[in-house]
Amino acid sequence: DEITTPGDGQEEKIFVSVRVRPMNAKEIANNDSSDWDCVSNNTIIFKNALTERSMYPNAYTFDRVYGCDSTTRQVYEEGIKRVALSALNGFNSSVFAYGQTSSGKTYTMTGVTQYAISDIFDHISKQDHREFMLKFSAIEIYNECVKDLLSADATPLRLLDDPEKGTVVDKLTEIHLEDWTHLMELLAVCEAQRKIGETSLNEMSSRSHQIIRLMIESSPSESSGIDSGSILTATVNFIDLAGSERASQTLSTGKRLKEGAHINRSLLTLGTVIRKLSKEPNGHIPYRDSKLTRILQNSLGGNAKTAIICTLSPAHTHLEQSRNTLLFAVCAK
Ligand code: ADP
Ligand code: MG
Repeated sequence: DEITTPGDGQEEKIFVSVRVRPMNAKEIANNDSSDWDCVSNNTIIFKNALTERSMYPNAYTFDRVYGCDSTTRQVYEEGIKRVALSALNGFNSSVFAYGQTSSGKTYTMTGVTQYAISDIFDHISKQDHREFMLKFSAIEIYNECVKDLLSADATPLRLLDDPEKGTVVDKLTEIHLEDWTHLMELLAVCEAQRKIGETSLNEMSSRSHQIIRLMIESSPSESSGIDSGSILTATVNFIDLAGSERASQTLSTGKRLKEGAHINRSLLTLGTVIRKLSKEPNGHIPYRDSKLTRILQNSLGGNAKTAIICTLSPAHTHLEQSRNTLLFAVCAK
């Protein structure tokens, strides 16, 4: 049951997929129409190109696209899995959900995270020659403040530059992850912690980023008696991003950054970092411009593996945001 990691040791392109959620009850009740059709496993088209002319392209091709009848299992198996599981082979990896609020980021990321960690447990249980140690942590970035989702202490955490490890989150709780039940308990703690002190969860989740990280350490087991390689350490990150409406003004119009709480520095910087990694990887990459990109620096670019799931609402009411999300996806390719 070997995990194959594509392009081992080399830089590779970011895996970019798009998922359109089903119309919700409110959209159906409002007779909102659906704008998007997935016409093959990698191409999505804007259906109303004749009536809605615009400067935007009407067809887009990505690594994979998923329509409203897709399952999260499918989204996971067809591309996210190999990125997430490459951490078992010692590669840092990151899986992002990007899209406007209510487009399905949390829905998709919750499933993907659980499938991946389940597969990681499964893989580890079948390994006779190596011993594995899993460490779980969870971070929230809200308004450029870094919070530990496993601690009741609300004091923002500092980022430190470690000469060997790069940027580390100072005093972040790391818990030795035992098994599936333990994972469910920890995820419930994170969920509860996210809600504390917030008047409106929706407002909160539209503005904040959540990172679930799993550090996987493995070493040759002493009892195996055979040489099964060296100690490997890698981190896999599952990132549920703030709503993309927090960055879209500048992305879509190229206008100067509008002041105010609407704009999210981490989200904007992530967009720039990803675009540069994709288009000019040898140029200067501005990781240091935001908390999110600093924390993820070692898991983005270089020989780290990255996958992005861009989530869309099908509804015509959300057309402009959907187009912005697709523009982001194009930039990441
Ligand atoms: P976001 O995190 O982007 O704000 P959510 O993941 O919370 O959005 O999704 C908004 C709503 O739509 C939720 O009620 C969620 O259960 C539902 N939803 C999202 N994606 C899907 C999907 N692919 N299939 C069915 N329901 C979905
Ligand atoms: Mg959400």
